[in-house]
Amino acid sequence: MTFLSKPGVTCLGRLSYAASMTKHLFVAFLLASAAPSFAQAVPPEVAKLRDRALKDDYAYDIVEGLTTEVGPRLAGTEAEARARDWAVRKLKAMGFANVRVEPFDMPVWVRGEEKAWITAPFPQPLAVTALGNSGATPAQGIEGDLVGFSTLDELKAAPDSAVRGKIVFVDHQMPRTQDGSSYGYFGTPRREGPTIASRKGALAIVVRSIGTDHHRNPHTGVMRFDEGVAPIPAGALSVPDAEQVQRILKRGQPVRLKLVLTPRNIGTRQSGNVVAEVPGRDPKAPPILVSGHLDSWDLGTGAIDDASGVAIAAASAKRIMDAGRPLRTIRVVWFGAEEVGLFGGLDYRAKHGKEPHYAIAESDFGADRVWKVDSKLGKEREAEAKALQSALAPLGIVPGALDEADGSDIGPMLADGLPGVAFAQDGTYYFDLHHTPDDTLDKVDPEALRQNVAAWTTMLAVLSGGIEPEPKRRKQR
Ligand SMILES: [Zn+2]
Repeated sequence: MTFLSKPGVTCLGRLSYAASMTKHLFVAFLLASAAPSFAQAVPPEVAKLRDRALKDDYAYDIVEGLTTEVGPRLAGTEAEARARDWAVRKLKAMGFANVRVEPFDMPVWVRGEEKAWITAPFPQPLAVTALGNSGATPAQGIEGDLVGFSTLDELKAAPDSAVRGKIVFVDHQMPRTQDGSSYGYFGTPRREGPTIASRKGALAIVVRSIGTDHHRNPHTGVMRFDEGVAPIPAGALSVPDAEQVQRILKRGQPVRLKLVLTPRNIGTRQSGNVVAEVPGRDPKAPPILVSGHLDSWDLGTGAIDDASGVAIAAASAKRIMDAGRPLRTIRVVWFGAEEVGLFGGLDYRAKHGKEPHYAIAESDFGADRVWKVDSKLGKEREAEAKALQSALAPLGIVPGALDEADGSDIGPMLADGLPGVAFAQDGTYYFDLHHTPDDTLDKVDPEALRQNVAAWTTMLAVLSGGIEPEPKRRKQR
């Protein structure tokens, strides 16, 4: 009602006749002629849960606690193990049931020293970081001629002789987008560049950071050498440093670069998914999975990537738990080891992917506001998907596709055909911070985080099958 009364009043203000009866008729007309998804009545209990979540504190409390008491949580390391311990304590303290860790093994890579300098013609230091799975230089570093390419395609097209024995630089400029779609294409130098450079006989590669900021923070991120390709040192320069290198290369003199990157592979270690539940009244009904990833890159404290995501998932489940018992179980999963290769999602899929799920969803795109909802619940559940769209509209969320959903850890399970919901968050500034030392708590806007929790709570309220208040115990006198 709140949603419909606002535009109604605005329109009526411009009418010369303002009899109250006419107003009512006009509002009725608006109701009838509005887009069908808006005309659907939102059940009052759903609206109440949604609006109350706009005052949520659970999510910020989780982000603040995890980033303060654990900090960076690189996959498979002792820090990620501490994060799992923290998560189990926190989720139990919040009142979740069946809180457990589902462990799995994975290969672990850790960062070493990282430095870079232009040694000729204009000697100066550069801000660099190693990409995940980068090979290492000797402790004293390597020095070589630098050869630059504006795009990955230029590197691909270059003859081996132009690259062999040299250090490669790729400058691929990523533009800002609301939906983050530029990350796929402009992220290829990071993901594929090292393999291509190594095949052509390069000594090492440095790429322009896959980021949209102009701070002197390099952006890390995972890459993987193709089977049989020799690992070479692979780093990212901060955007200002990449632009500096480009200017130096344009001067036309031979450029020399010195690089020290000493990461190590430390073998197989344990990671794990942390699982917690709000048990449903019907234990046989397929659960609704809400998730984020617990691990983070090691440069910042992983506040937006992805403490905010795990917080949004758990806070929305907690808000349903506070209201009573849903028909369907809500399963909260804080995936381990997402950043380095979706290990947690793949482990969950191996263990549970064949079990039916009512819906799966993951929050892993920062802490900014949700602007769109996509879903893929199936043709026969279109009415339910539209009811969800209606209930979300007062949060400023536009209806998206009814036949697609995405997510990082849950991506393979969505591809398998499990039904899913995907909230699109505003990504305009996400890649200013993504995988940098700047991913810290102060970047999280509590208001935007609450809007996320409200959206997720609404989704759970709509899909839960109805929430019944816990029977109140009579006071014993
Ligand atoms: Zn993430």
